[in-house]
Amino acid sequence: MLDIHLYYIHKLYKKSMFILNQITDTDTAKGKVNQKRYIVVHTTASKPNTTFQNILKFFKKKDYLSVHYTISYQGDIVQLAKDDAVCYHAGISQWMNDKDLNNCSIGIEVFDNGQPFTDIQRENTIELCAMICRRWKIPVSKVLPHSTVAYPRGRKSDPPKSFYKDWSEFQDKIDEKI
Ligand SMILES: [Zn+2]
Repeated sequence: MLDIHLYYIHKLYKKSMFILNQITDTDTAKGKVNQKRYIVVHTTASKPNTTFQNILKFFKKKDYLSVHYTISYQGDIVQLAKDDAVCYHAGISQWMNDKDLNNCSIGIEVFDNGQPFTDIQRENTIELCAMICRRWKIPVSKVLPHSTVAYPRGRKSDPPKSFYKDWSEFQDKIDEKI
């Protein structure tokens, strides 16, 4: 079991979807408020023996790397920080005129320890993106893979094609749910 208190939030967004909520004090990091204009999707590229529980503990260490949501192979969504929080997941990044996307994006880490991604993981990532887009009026064109926003280009390669091979199709699927 996790050493932190777990509880369910139902209808956190307008659509009912259970999100395991483990909000930590990441949400007050540096006192900044996230501008929430993008969603950056990652895959964790963890070592084969890494468990989902391991990764949750890892992302709690806000000094190094943090993220708003993680999604397990079973499709469980765990929220680790409030959407208003500035988390540290995008690294050096740029898209259009925006630099340092940590200040203006919500980060989603899809768990990946080398096993194949599951359909429920993809479906719930789409559902989660749609909920966040709806809530903060983020256009699907601003739901982007880490590899697209990482700077310099080529610095990051996640998510791999095995997660979603055609990103515009992924955006269309989100759009259908908004
Ligand atoms: Zn990434």
